[in-house]
Amino acid sequence: MSDLGPSPLVSGQEMHVHAAREAIHAALRPIADTLALPLDKALGRVLAADVVSPIDVPAHDNSAMDGYALHGAALSADGPTVLQALPTTVFAGAPYGGRVAAGECIRIMTGAVMPEGLDTVVPIELCRVDGHGVSIAPGVLRAGENRRKRGEDLARGGVALPAGRVLRPADLGLAASLGLQTVQVFRPLRVALFSTGDELRTPGQALEPGCIYDSNRYSLLGALQRLGVEILDLGLVPDDPVALQRTMERAVAEADAVVTSGGVSMGDADYTRDLLARMGEVAFWKVAMRPGRPFAFGELKHGARSAWLFALPGNPVAALVTFYAFAREALLALGGATPNPLVTLQARSLAPLRKRPGRTEYQRGIVSRADDGQWQVQITGAQGAGILRSLSQANALVVLAHEQGSVAAGEPVTVWLFDGLV
Ligand code: AMP
Ligand code: MG
Repeated sequence: MSDLGPSPLVSGQEMHVHAAREAIHAALRPIADTLALPLDKALGRVLAADVVSPIDVPAHDNSAMDGYALHGAALSADGPTVLQALPTTVFAGAPYGGRVAAGECIRIMTGAVMPEGLDTVVPIELCRVDGHGVSIAPGVLRAGENRRKRGEDLARGGVALPAGRVLRPADLGLAASLGLQTVQVFRPLRVALFSTGDELRTPGQALEPGCIYDSNRYSLLGALQRLGVEILDLGLVPDDPVALQRTMERAVAEADAVVTSGGVSMGDADYTRDLLARMGEVAFWKVAMRPGRPFAFGELKHGARSAWLFALPGNPVAALVTFYAFAREALLALGGATPNPLVTLQARSLAPLRKRPGRTEYQRGIVSRADDGQWQVQITGAQGAGILRSLSQANALVVLAHEQGSVAAGEPVTVWLFDGLV
């Protein structure tokens, strides 16, 4: 883990958010255990192996329209083509076993197998049917039209879905269209979560003077639930070395990753660093970002077990922002997923934004559509790292890049929409 970058305490030196993200991804080793799941239990799970099609889809040439199936070679360019319709109709699921001779056609419905030798379908609305037969005006149809070819969706042996895919509704339908009953997925990642701080109380407890309620555990529980991981909620841990060690050891024994909040700032007691240093290789970073500067990442060991630590800052906004900036994608990757890039948008800032170059800033904003149809964004009130309401009111994070300076009103900024993110 030498690529974890500057270890503890390189004072004054701040790390670019990209460097932090890259160091995390370079270190991670995804889980390997897999299991087979029935399709109706597999939504949101991560494919552990490519899904290879055992059949051609569609399995036969078939009609894309309701109409008449015919020999494309019979179409005349000079005058109407007149064909005699056989006295039968081919329906989906009931192939026609007979032959259709030159000069003949046959009524066919959408999805029905193309009868032997026929390659073209004239839609019902493009032909005239009367006592003389089925007549098609010149130029309305080319040979081969309105026929879906065998294997055009997916050829047998082709990769229908790649390993690493987080399964979505259409993917389950696609797997079913191949006749598959199960898919091979990774077991869910197990993530332990706890908050640290003597001042914290759990909702339901009395709030003594100087105490605050533990909000991070609930924000982070929600964020983790969205990722589809298994959560081990270890509750609240006081600022006490023995309690912290006991909880951390249990987390490592029972989970693949540990997410904590609080207790990693420079001002915090050194025993946290001592404990983590004893338990594994953990880097404490001062990331050049706002909110959320202190952040620790590494691999902890206890006995034969190990787990990845994401130690987030305690400030409620900083805890969630660092979770989205670093932990979210990392946890997806640990669970075997190939994370999709976040959906970003350019939106006009309605107000000027003060920003100094040299750190990445994540401001909370409300994105809406302006009268001219363009996206616009309004920052939500005070942006202090502890002001959780700014995040609760927002529907997006405004991401101001490291190099960027202040933004004038009307200038475009990059936003991460919460839909798709959370
Ligand atoms: P720390 O990172 O432990 O120094 O905490 C920074 C600030 O965040 C302090 O004001 C803490 O009281 C607050 N804080 C820490 N953990 C939590 C939590 N779980 N819920 C709400 N506030 C917290
Ligand atoms: Mg604390």
